[in-house]
This record gives sequence, structure tokens and C-alpha cells, in this order.
Amino acid sequence: MIEPEQNRDLEALDADYLGLFTVYLAALQKRLPNYKIIVTETRRSKERQEFLKAKGASKTMHSNHLLGRAIDIALLNTVTGQIDWSDLAYKAAYTLCDPRRYGLVSGGQLWDWDWPHLELMDIDAKYPALIGTAEDIWLT
Ligand SMILES: [Zn+2]
Repeated sequence: MIEPEQNRDLEALDADYLGLFTVYLAALQKRLPNYKIIVTETRRSKERQEFLKAKGASKTMHSNHLLGRAIDIALLNTVTGQIDWSDLAYKAAYTLCDPRRYGLVSGGQLWDWDWPHLELMDIDAKYPALIGTAEDIWLT
């Protein structure tokens, strides 16, 4: 199966929440002068979600990416020119600029994995239609 292309366009996000993501990204970027924040994925098609689930890269078909309510970010170290995918780097970034203060939350803060993932905070409370089984809320 050919990997469906990933969408990195912020404009593809749910328009009601685009502002939360752009404000947070700007705040985070400001606090990380030696890093360039790269958005690696925004809204995801059903076909791509199926592909990622089949590959084991996602554990759900209920991802908030499908609704345009989640993004994934990479931290490019502009000194080394390398992307730092370590949990430690994300933990440090989110300590400096906690997404929860901006109405967002990272996968790491929710489930202690998938630190690059950011989605709306309290999504289950706000959007009960999204509530699934315990396994279903493993969003990536
Ligand atoms: Zn994600």
C-alpha cells in the first residue's frame, strides 16, 4: 500500500480552533530560539489514518487529526541542523511553554507517549461524540 500523503497545512485544521494552534506555535517558537518548530502533520484523511493504523504508527481510527483538531510537530535544532525526536526535548519544550495553558495538550502529557502530538485539551469533555473505548482514545 502506498503511503497517503501527509497534510502539513495549518489552514486545513478546523477553523474554529486554528487560532489555538497558531498562537501556541508562535509562543513556543518564541521560547525556543535555537529550534525551528516544524508542523509535520495537521488534518489526516481516513485513508491515511487506516494506513498508519495498519502500520502500527497509530492505535486508533478516532484520531483528532481526522477532524482537523490535532497537529504533530518536530523540533529542528538550528545549531546542529538535526531534528530532535527525543521525549526529553519535547518535555523541555512543553515545560518552557506548556500547551495546556493555551487550550492544547500533548500526547505525552495525556498518555506518556507520542510527544510530538498536540490536540485540543479536554476533547472528550467537549466532544462526547468522540468518546470510544479506553483503547480508542490512544490518539496519534
Ligand atoms: Zn498526532
